[in-house]
Amino acid sequence: MNDLEFKHTVLDPLSASFCAAKWYNATIWLGSGQTTSCHHPPAHLVDRDKVTTNPRLLHNTAQKKADRAQMQAGTRPAGCEYCWKIEDMGSDAISDRVYKSKIYPIQALDEAFVTAPDADVNLRTLEIAFDRTCQFACSYCNPAFSTTWVNDIRHNGPYQNLVSDGRNHFTHTHDSAQLFKITESNPYIDAFFAWWETDLHHTLQELRITGGEPLMSAHTWRLVDWFRDNRGRSSTRLAINSNLGTDIDIGRLLDSTQHMNIDLYTSNETTGAQAEYIRDGLVWTDWVTNVERLLSSFQFRTIHVMCTINALCLPSLDQLLEQIMTWKMQCGRDAISFTLNILRFPSFQSPLILPESTRTVYRQRLITWLEHWTDSEFIDEHEVNHTQRLIDYLDVVKTPHSEAFDRPPLLHDFKQFYSQYDQRRSKDFGLAFPELKEWYDSL
Ligand code: SF4
Repeated sequence: MNDLEFKHTVLDPLSASFCAAKWYNATIWLGSGQTTSCHHPPAHLVDRDKVTTNPRLLHNTAQKKADRAQMQAGTRPAGCEYCWKIEDMGSDAISDRVYKSKIYPIQALDEAFVTAPDADVNLRTLEIAFDRTCQFACSYCNPAFSTTWVNDIRHNGPYQNLVSDGRNHFTHTHDSAQLFKITESNPYIDAFFAWWETDLHHTLQELRITGGEPLMSAHTWRLVDWFRDNRGRSSTRLAINSNLGTDIDIGRLLDSTQHMNIDLYTSNETTGAQAEYIRDGLVWTDWVTNVERLLSSFQFRTIHVMCTINALCLPSLDQLLEQIMTWKMQCGRDAISFTLNILRFPSFQSPLILPESTRTVYRQRLITWLEHWTDSEFIDEHEVNHTQRLIDYLDVVKTPHSEAFDRPPLLHDFKQFYSQYDQRRSKDFGLAFPELKEWYDSL
C-alpha cells in the first residue's frame, strides 16, 4: 500500500488527526528529563519523582494522554502543527503523521485508537538521548543539544540583537537541558536502565540513541555492550545517531556492533565548504570517509542521511543527493537512504527566508534532479515523496510557521545571527555562499 492509500484507507478513517506516534513512539532526553512524541511537538517535562517507581511514565505523561484523547476525537493537538501545516496544503499532502503511523501494524493502530487515553502504553519505537555532549555546534542547533554550543555562549556571551522567535535559542546556556553533571547520578537515566532491564528490551522494536553526539557518551557504549553481551535476549533493533565527525571512534563502532545489523543515522544536507559552514565542526572529507568506511563494512542495515532543510543548504542540496545516489549504486539501494526534514525553528533559518526568485531557482534544480531519478530502481518511494514534498513546500508555504509570518524581523535576525556566527566561528558567509552574497549584503 503506498503512502497516500495508507492515509486515505487506514489513518483517516480512524480520525482526521490520529497519529500512532502519540502511543508508540517517543523521544526522551534523559539529561533534561523531557519527552515528546516525535521531533515536531515541543518537549515537556517528565515527573522526576514518579519515574523512580514507575519508569513507564518516562513516556506516558499527562500531556501525551491529553493529546491522545484529542486524536481519538479527531481534533488536532496544537503541538503537532508541523503536520497540520503540511496537510492543509491539500487532502493528498502526506505529513509525518502518515510516515510515523505506517511503520506499525494496522492492528496496533486499531488497538491504540480504542485504548483508554489515560492508559500506560508500551513503547514500540524509542529515541533517547543521554546527554548533550557534542563536538559540533551547527548553526541550526543550540546549547540544549551541544556542549560546544554551550562553550560558544560561555566564552562569547549571548548572541545580540535577535528579535524573532529563534532568539532564545542563542542567548543562554540552556542549563535545564543538563540537570545533572556527567559524573552525577541521574534519576531519569537510572529509570531508563531499570525499564530497559525489566520491560523495554522485550517490547521495543527499535531503540535509537541520539544526543548530543551519542558516541561520546559512556551510557551509549554501556547499551551497545549490553547488546553484544546479551545476544539473543532482545529482538530490539538498535539504531545510533552520529555526526560521524573526525573524532568519532569508527574502529570501536565497527568492532562493537559486528553481527548486530544496526541502523546508523547521520546528518548532512549539503556538501563541501557549505556543509562545513552550516555544521560547524564538520570536516566534509572526513564525513565522506567515515560514511564510506561504514558502507564498505556491509554490517549496517542502512545508513540514513538526515537532511535538515534550512536556507543555506538549498544551493547544493542536489549535490548531496547525487552523492547519496552514487553510494546507492555502488553499495545497493538500501545501503544508504535520505530524508528531507524541513527546518521550522529558528524561523530565520527556514528555507522560506530566501527571496522567492532564489527559491524558485533551487526549487527548479530539485525538480530537475527528481525528474532524473524518479523512475530509478535506486530511489525509494519515501525519498521521492520527501523530495516532492520539499518542492511543494518551497512553492506553496509562504511562512515558516503560523506565529512567524512577519518577514522583516526574520531577515533582520538572519543577518544578525550569521554576522555574529562568522565572528565567533572564524567563518565568512560570502565566501561560503557566493550565490547568496549579494542578497546577504543587502540585508
Ligand atoms: S507532529 Fe505529526 S508525526 Fe509528530 S506526533 Fe504529531 S501528528 Fe504525529
